[in-house]
Amino acid sequence: MTAQLMDGKAFAASVREKVAGHVSRLKEENGITPGLAVVLVGEDPASQVYVRSKGKQTVEVGMNSIEHRLDAETPEDKLLALIEELNNDPAVHGILVQLPLPKHLDEDLVINSISPQKDVDGFHISNVGLLGTGQKAMVPCTPLGCLMMLRDYHGSLSGMDAVVIGRSNIVGKPMAMLLLGDSCTVTVAHSRTKDLPDVVRRADIVVAAVGRPEMVPGDWIKDGATVVDVGINRIERDGKNVLVGDVDFASCAERAGAITPVPGGVGPMTIACLLANTVTACCRANGLAEPEGLTA
Ligand code: NAD
Repeated sequence: MTAQLMDGKAFAASVREKVAGHVSRLKEENGITPGLAVVLVGEDPASQVYVRSKGKQTVEVGMNSIEHRLDAETPEDKLLALIEELNNDPAVHGILVQLPLPKHLDEDLVINSISPQKDVDGFHISNVGLLGTGQKAMVPCTPLGCLMMLRDYHGSLSGMDAVVIGRSNIVGKPMAMLLLGDSCTVTVAHSRTKDLPDVVRRADIVVAAVGRPEMVPGDWIKDGATVVDVGINRIERDGKNVLVGDVDFASCAERAGAITPVPGGVGPMTIACLLANTVTACCRANGLAEPEGLTA
């Protein structure tokens, strides 16, 4: 391997440390404890793991964690009433409704009922619009984490050619907006892109967010490019259940200048950025200076 490893685990720990420092200043100087409310509807096992992990890390950085677990049959009006209550609660600075929701609930309606100022996932239509127009927004956590790692590694991204593979609302599109905001020349590739290898070969920065195990081989990567692998895919290999990304790590690491591993790359940054967004939301709600380096 010739590429430098971009260690998301260590970087996420440094983000959490910054958040914890800011939280303790908010407590001491302003008497405010940031609060994050997480709403989980139903018993999806993966969602339960995420919610537990979010709650634990929220408490570890000194913030209040408020959890609401509703059963899978919860009617929409009951969920919307809870969100309204949280919107109006001054002790709650961030609200996250864990996705996916059970089929009978309208995900767009639910997300858009969260106050945009408390929308720490950055999925509310107002935040999407603010990000798209280069205004101060709450930014989706996974692409924010990728941006932080890229800025940390490169300093300025200005003028670089970036290719984002995947156009989801959660990762691909906001990632493209953030890279554009940092003055990259951005191409968004997707399932209908013609000659994807050729498109990827032009990139100084490749962000893969597809959900297909190891689909990007090393010979698509320009020498010295930076590869950020968002994919999390579970596969069977040599009789074992293993996690792999959307890029073939071994061959890409031979060509890239820097690369994120899976696991231990982008993954740990997502919750760290959720905590960062909560402290940012708390500062904005109270008219206080925002923490440096924790926003886009
Ligand atoms: P998604 O399914 O919503 O979107 C996938 C995108 O990939 C689509 O836009 C589609 O056009 C594109 N695509 C599909 N096949 C393609 C192909 N052959 N060539 C090019 N593009 C193709 O997925 P998502 O929610 O954006 O997630 C993508 C991956 O990132 C998944 O593996 C997911 O588990 C992972 N993820 C990780 C984190 C994290 O915390 N690290 C967070 C969110 C998602």
